[in-house]
Amino acid sequence: MAEFEKSHLLKRLVSDWSHRHAAFVAGLGRFGLNNMLITESGCCGRAGSFLTSLKLPPDPRPKAEACLYHHNGSCERSVSRFVGGALFIDNFYRHKCYQVCLKNEKKYVSLGKADVCGKCLVGVPCSFKNPVKEQDANAG
Ligand code: SF4
Repeated sequence: MAEFEKSHLLKRLVSDWSHRHAAFVAGLGRFGLNNMLITESGCCGRAGSFLTSLKLPPDPRPKAEACLYHHNGSCERSVSRFVGGALFIDNFYRHKCYQVCLKNEKKYVSLGKADVCGKCLVGVPCSFKNPVKEQDANAG
């Protein structure tokens, strides 16, 4: 790899893969109805990842769901929280979602790059915890 490319990548920490999918593969959580990874600390977080050739034993992936909808259908909150009608029970229109982000970015141009949102993660049962574990604990 050319020296310029290496320093460019290191400076910007650019990746061509999804960090939350890497986190899923690494066993850190399960995907919710909102398409976010729900870990033991919920889905209000940012994942980062890097690749290595180091041989490491894989962690087991959790088998149990972490989303109440996928677990027993007892929650659909993320659908109503989604701005712009991009998320439905059986579909997610990622381009529609991104259009809302781009619209907001234009509106708040003084803040710089702002093409991410996160409103669907706020104030829902899985924001800061694994709600299935809590529900199961309360039932038992
Ligand atoms: S808000 Fe409810 S339905 Fe949406 S991802 Fe979280 S637990 Fe699942």
